[in-house]
Formats: sequence, C-alpha cells, structure tokens
Amino acid sequence: MKIAKFGGSSLANAFQIKKVCEIILADPDRRIIVVSAPGKRDKNDIKVTDLLIATANAGLAGKSYDKELQRVIDRYKEICDDLNIEDKLPEIIDTLKAAAASDTKDENRYLDTLKAMGEDCCARLVSAYLTSIGHPAKYCSPKECGLFLEHDAAGKARILGESYDNLEQLKHEKEICIFPGFYGCGKDGRVITFSRGGSDITGSILAGAVNADVYENWTDVDSVFAVNPSLVKNPFPITEITYDEMRELAYAGFSVLHEEALYPVYVRGIPVHIRNTNNPSAKGTRIVSERTHYDSLVTGIAGERGFLTITVTKYLMNHEVGFISTLLNIMADEGIPIEHIPSGIDSITIIARKKYFTPEKEEIVLNRFRNEAKAESVKVDRDLAIVMIVGQAMEKSVGIMARAASALSAAGINLRIVNQGASEISMMFGVAEEYKDYAIRVLYKELFRY
Ligand code: ASP
Repeated sequence: MKIAKFGGSSLANAFQIKKVCEIILADPDRRIIVVSAPGKRDKNDIKVTDLLIATANAGLAGKSYDKELQRVIDRYKEICDDLNIEDKLPEIIDTLKAAAASDTKDENRYLDTLKAMGEDCCARLVSAYLTSIGHPAKYCSPKECGLFLEHDAAGKARILGESYDNLEQLKHEKEICIFPGFYGCGKDGRVITFSRGGSDITGSILAGAVNADVYENWTDVDSVFAVNPSLVKNPFPITEITYDEMRELAYAGFSVLHEEALYPVYVRGIPVHIRNTNNPSAKGTRIVSERTHYDSLVTGIAGERGFLTITVTKYLMNHEVGFISTLLNIMADEGIPIEHIPSGIDSITIIARKKYFTPEKEEIVLNRFRNEAKAESVKVDRDLAIVMIVGQAMEKSVGIMARAASALSAAGINLRIVNQGASEISMMFGVAEEYKDYAIRVLYKELFRY
C-alpha cells in the first residue's frame, strides 16, 4: 500500500487536479491520498490557505470578511466548473461559510478552523471528481477517522497516540480515500492545524498508521538537488538519501519536507519517495533508512545564516568539574537552545541561533556566565553562517575535510569553526554570514565536479 500526498502546486487548478487523478488511478496501490489546499497557479497568485488567513483576520478584527471569503469561493468555483462537478459547489460554499461564521471568541481556534478549510474543501472536491469519472472515492473527515491532536507546551500541534490505531482502519476502505492534510481535531472536537506546510505531516502519519510500503510525496520538482538550485546551475540530483542525511541537510536550511514530517515514517522505516506531479516518469528522490547505492561521495551541501558564538575562557577549565554544565544550565534556564559546543582546553564555544538573543537577553546570559560560572572572558561573535557537507559515504573515505578546507582557503574564506560530528556523516564549517553562498558554491565545485 502506498500513501500519496499531493502539495498545493499539484492541486492549484483543474488541469493540475486531472494530472493528480491520473497518477492516483495509474497504480491500484494508491488507495489513501492526502491533499493540500490549492496553491499558486502562477508566481503572482495567492495560495488558498493565505486567502483563508486573510478571511480569518478580517473576522477577528470585527470587519466584514465577505470580500476575502468570496476570493476563496471563486477559486473553488473555477475548479468545480472546469472539472464539471458544479453540483459539488454548494457543499463547499456551505462548509466555508460555516467556518467563517463560527465563534471568534477563541482567536486561535477560529484561525485554525478557517485555515483547515483549504485542504478540507480540496479533499471534498477531488473525491467528487474521481467519483464523477467512474472511480468511487470518499472524502475522509479527520474528525470521523480519529486523527486526534493536542497542543504541547509551546503551542505546537502534536498527535495523540491512539490516532494511529484509529487511522489504521482506513486500510479496509473499499473506495479510494481522500484525506485532507494539515489538520486534525482535539478531543473536544476543535480543529487543530499543524504549522505551515503541515500536510506533509498528515501524509507521514497516515503512512505510519497503515504501515505503508512507501510514502509518496508529490510536488513540482524532479528530485531533491545536492545544493540549492538558485545557487548553482543544474545541480546534481539526489536519487537516494537516508533520513539522517536529510535531517542534517534540513538543519542547515534544506527545505524539502516539513521538518516534523519525517518522524512517523522514520521510526517505522517506511521509505519516502519525493516525485514530480508534472513529470511522473522522473526518478525522484527516495529517503530511506539504509542506502543501496551512492551516486556521489557527498550527498548534499547546505548552509544557513543567523547563528552566533559565545566563547567562554577560563584558565584550567578542563580541571574544573561542572564548569560546562553550569554554562549549559544557564542557557537552559534562559530558554535558549544550543546548536553546537566545540571546546578547547581552556575555552568553550557555544553556538546558538541569533533569534534567541535580544540585547537584554545577551546581557543577562553574559553576566550570568561571568558571575555564576566565574568565566574569565566571554566574547560574542555575531553574524555566523553554518555550512554543512553531508554524505553517508564520507564515513569510509579519506581526505574530504582536507579538500573542502583547502578549497575554502584558496577562495579566501576564513573558517571560524570547523566541526565533524561523531557520526562522520557530516562536517560543519562556520563562516561569516556574507560568505555563506560563496562557500557553498566553492564546496560544490570542489566536491561534485571531480
Ligand atoms: N496549505 C497549508 C500551507 O499552505 C498546508 C500545506 O500545504 O501543507 O501551509
């Protein structure tokens, strides 16, 4: 059994939806389908989810939302007309109107209720279209199917364990199941959405629940590339990558799937296959637990700006029991996640994301390091970018670090930090933010154009 999830660009209009349905019907194993909300039809268009957010904001501001809601209705009307399923439109309009007219007292609840309608109406529409062309399909309500969510302490949506058993039942459905992505329900029946791009998570949850053979994630590119295609022309395609490699690249800014989407499939070892709705014959990219082949020594290179380092020094630091834990406790106390901690004999560098440091917060942390950990000196370096080279095959090969460092040095890029994780599947360089893109190009040229 395959779970197939289609993203917003694959469902942006009737023409795209017809392609999606052809893909669904081409393989009898595609029985459970997850749909996003219709996305942009062209570069300047607006996604249905964004139109719904605008509707909700008008409602929350106590203004009329009619204009905003009409734009959403128009999008669905155009699709229904073009697919010859005009009789489905009244149900969609009623669903949208009911959501917009719901109680605004709890702002988040109202916003979630509206945001979710993009995928909800899309699932109604796709199931109606499939049925209309002679392939019985069923809209699956996340509430009725038992996709239960709750909010964690940080306000993020988290799945309740029992949902997996509930959703497993979908295996026994005779019709093709069309499941809206992006949202589930609280135990009190309220709609709860994932963060943006969250339909990827729904697909992964369903793949986990039915223990699918593969989770197909259909989007609009032929494959994932070894490097961001806006930085390098025709970059090397990645045909296979492990979950671990993907995590490392995502950490450094690779945005292929929603960050949380891999977990349900990762724990069950279900492969993910990223494919192109506009070119189904392309190989795509498979994300797997164990790789079967390597097309290149390095799998990918990615980089992200927005880091800083705090370097703390203290003479005989290595003799002092508990020094590092005092620093780490202070960071935890202040609610700042730590990214890396390279250390020397008498110094330690803490790498964190800049977004957590307001000037006041920085002052507090530095003072606490001086007063509570009795640090001799504390130095902050801002404007750090992290560039990662990731590749499972590097584990067994010699000299990549030397080649990478020499190429960067020949290009005149100063390395502020160098770190190779214990797993040996990645190496990290800290460079000044303005060199991030240049460093990626230099590394790509060195490591892929051999
Ligand atoms: N429609 C939602 C968004 O635009 C969720 C998704 O497409 O995955 O973020």
